[in-house]
Amino acid sequence: MHVLILGGTTEASELARLMAGDTRFEATLSLAGRTSSPRPQPLATRIGGFGGTEGLAQYLDDHKIEAVVDATHPYAAQISANAVAACARTGTPLASIVRAAWSAQPGDVWQVVASTQEAVAALGPSPRRVFLSLGRQELHLFAGAPQHHYLARLIEAPQEASLPPDLVLLRQRGPFDRDAEQRLLQDERIDVVVSKNAGGSATYAKIEAARALDLPVIMIERPDKPAGVVVASATQAVAWLAHDATSRSLRGV
Ligand code: NAP
Repeated sequence: MHVLILGGTTEASELARLMAGDTRFEATLSLAGRTSSPRPQPLATRIGGFGGTEGLAQYLDDHKIEAVVDATHPYAAQISANAVAACARTGTPLASIVRAAWSAQPGDVWQVVASTQEAVAALGPSPRRVFLSLGRQELHLFAGAPQHHYLARLIEAPQEASLPPDLVLLRQRGPFDRDAEQRLLQDERIDVVVSKNAGGSATYAKIEAARALDLPVIMIERPDKPAGVVVASATQAVAWLAHDATSRSLRGV
């Protein structure tokens, strides 16, 4: 069975590991190309956008893809909308790995906001020392609040011209350890953390560290993200591929 995995996450890498060498599948992992040196993968990998819904539908046809697994990040809503539309158009079965969101625990001080723009406003007028772990695409928005000091953790240096003036970059890739996160927040005298609600364990340590230090977290809500058949893990995606997707594909539905 020809399978396309839409990746860029821990779950996608896990799925690639599970499917590599599994003779039932011939899978290709697709990455957007946001990082110049992605982790090496044990599957055939293609890199770059498809060209919207049209382009993705064309790719599914051209490569005779029989099932798609959307294992993209909870905040990557556009590619998921495209996947739902392209799979509907081509009649390709689609499963989406949906990671459970974090929920506030006793001791957490969260201010939940709807967007990164709202997070910028929520920092308020007085200068603060802010820890950002959002990825580089939204960093330029914080140039709108130049009174704050920012420590931004990224995999790759940002390319945008307009960045906040008082910005220190920390180039690191997760997963992160709770004690190290706590030390980082203390050493850098951070007084507020801005985070996406990524879910999962790889980046949760900063939330635990903020709790331990009584630091507020400005938590950006997840966007609406279209999905196919919802599964919770890479293992469940393989089970779906082996059963549901195979029988749908055989029946031609
Ligand atoms: P997005 O806003 O949903 O997608 C924007 C465009 O990027 C899509 O329309 C598509 O271009 C292309 N694209 C996205 N994911 C792709 C994939 N796996 N393979 C091929 N093309 C892809 O996505 P994003 O938020 O920019 O995220 C990009 C990638 O980074 C995703 O793979 C995601 O899993 C990963 N990621 C995102 C975040 C985050 O916070 N957003 C965090 C960690 C990892 P075309 O329309 O041209 O096909």
